[in-house]
This record gives sequence, structure tokens and C-alpha cells, in this order.
Amino acid sequence: MRKLAAGNWKMNGVEADLAEVDALVSAHRTPRCEMLLCPPATLISRMAARATGDLFIGAQDCHAQASGAHTGDISAAMLVDAGATHVILGHSERRADHGETDAEVRAKAEAALAAGLVAIVCVGETEAQRDAGQTLEVIGGQLAGSVPEAATARTTVIAYEPVWAIGTGRTPTLEEIAEVHAFLRAGLAKRFGDAEGFRLLYGGSVKPSNAGEIFAVANVDGALVGGASLKAADFGAIVEAL
Ligand code: PEP
Repeated sequence: MRKLAAGNWKMNGVEADLAEVDALVSAHRTPRCEMLLCPPATLISRMAARATGDLFIGAQDCHAQASGAHTGDISAAMLVDAGATHVILGHSERRADHGETDAEVRAKAEAALAAGLVAIVCVGETEAQRDAGQTLEVIGGQLAGSVPEAATARTTVIAYEPVWAIGTGRTPTLEEIAEVHAFLRAGLAKRFGDAEGFRLLYGGSVKPSNAGEIFAVANVDGALVGGASLKAADFGAIVEAL
């Protein structure tokens, strides 16, 4: 399986920042892994026009409905039309800021798959849940609730992102990452039969200095990167570590 380095630009980026995409593309013409950048929706089509080869462009959310009276929302088919091939769903910031439930994330993922997008479904515990020893229980619930029945290894990626590690500079130990990723692999195998082809990304304060050791952990098939994906030099160094 080819690994995946995915960048989540969150609510960052305007026209001038597209120079980072050009720098990334020219410095990594034949990367060992697939690269994905998920900018704000406003930049998807402009970024897609500059992406070549192994750089894919994705979105950060989609609506569960195909069209209709949903002011401000964007459907999965619209993302495809703009040039997106992937969509991040159930990111902890959307679960927290917009109260997205597992059922809503699952409905969005179903819409994404139906439109032909690869769905990157995010799961992860809060610090209080980890401290209470509930990490696997929480992640098991999110996995069961957020991932649609139609998911396949080709169309669905799972990102493990501990909420307390996002944007904080803190990361779990390598053993803790290994434990969760093995748990995810086993959970997918139980539900879908064969789970070997599903890509499992780790996300949360990945940077050039820690990417190599995290990518060496069993069952880590890539990364979902926030802050360090904004600059081509940093993201490129993470790509090289894969
Ligand atoms: C994220 O938001 O998906 C993320 C992993 O952020 P950061 O890399 O900045 O911790």
C-alpha cells in the first residue's frame, strides 16, 4: 500500500499562498508517497489546477445532502466538480465547533463515497477521556458510528487524531500510537473482513522532526498534518520521512 501524507490547511490560505503548492510540486515530482492538500473550499479549484502527479487536492467537509436549501454548505458532488478527490470528515474541530455527531459524520461519508470522493474519517479521544482510560472505547465508538457500511480500503481512510495533540506540540508516545492503530486495524478487520488495505493516518503535531519515528510505528500508513502542511518546506520534509 502506498502511504499518504495529507495536509489540512484548516481556515488558512489565500491566492498568495498557492506559491507553496508550486514549491511542493516542483520539489517532489516523484515522491514515495501520495500527497494530499486540503485547503479551504475557496482554494480547491485553483489548487487543483496547479496540482500534478502525486499531489491530490481535497476538502475539509461536505454536506450529507446532494443539493438543496442548505445555505453556506457544499455538497460532495460540488467538491468533485471543483477538482477535489478526497474529503476530511469528522475532524475534531468540526465535532467541537459544529457539534457533529458520529451519525452526521457517517451520513457525510456516505455522500462522499456516493460522489466518488475518498473519505478521510477522523477519530480521536480528548485528554480527559485518555486520562480516564477511555481511549479505545471512545475510538471504537467513533469508528463504528462514523464509518459507513459501504466503506472499502480504496475509498476510505481513517485518521487517528488525539484531540489533545492537535496544534499543541504534544504527541502520544509511539507505544500509544501503536496501540490505537492496532486497535483500528483489528476493528476494521472485524467489520469488513480484510483490513490490510485500509490506510490509517496518525495526526496531531506531526512535524519534520518527529515524522520519521511516527511513520515507523506499525500500522501507521501516513499522516494528517495541520500546521506543518502550510509551508512546502515543512510538508515536503514530512513527505520525505514517509
Ligand atoms: C489537524 O488538525 O488535523 C492536525 C493534525 O493539526 P496539527 O498538525 O497542527 O496538530
